[in-house]
Amino acid sequence: MSQEIQKLEGFEGPGFLATSLDKAVGLARKNSLWPLPFATSCCGIEFMATMASTYDLGRFGAERLSFSPRQADLLMVMGTISKKMGPVLRQVYEQMAEPRWVLSVGACASTGGIFDTYSVLQGIDRIIPVDVYVPGCPPRPEQILDGVLKIQELVANESLRRRNSDEYKDLLASYGIQ
Ligand code: SF4
Repeated sequence: MSQEIQKLEGFEGPGFLATSLDKAVGLARKNSLWPLPFATSCCGIEFMATMASTYDLGRFGAERLSFSPRQADLLMVMGTISKKMGPVLRQVYEQMAEPRWVLSVGACASTGGIFDTYSVLQGIDRIIPVDVYVPGCPPRPEQILDGVLKIQELVANESLRRRNSDEYKDLLASYGIQ
């Protein structure tokens, strides 16, 4: 799989291109995501395969993993999240600067998966907002890549004003996040 070089939309002529700031910033952000892998169990192993040479997430500009939330803009949650782990995950999310995106990888992160028990969180969207869900138990690396591409689509098309909008503030408020 190779990624096409995307042209910016706008007015163009010999030696110039006029486009909107939203589109230029979106293109830059989309191709320079810094993922924070929050991997707690088997889905994390699929992520390791996604980073390795055969699938190589680096082809999408996202090879620089960050294990510090302050230097990351894509939170990738992979694995079973116990209720005890929930506050830790939420703290990591809160420590990330805006704009930030969340990819929920696999059945466990998205719904609790097969662990319908008292101790497992039945989906991370109970504690933090999620942008894209990747199904599967575990999802194959191609599916994880597809999830990252969907995130890239959101990033490229996001308005620069979205994070200051009332809708976004209401979304965070519904999670009790300032
Ligand atoms: S979804 Fe399946 S593979 Fe992924 S963490 Fe849960 S049990 Fe493991």
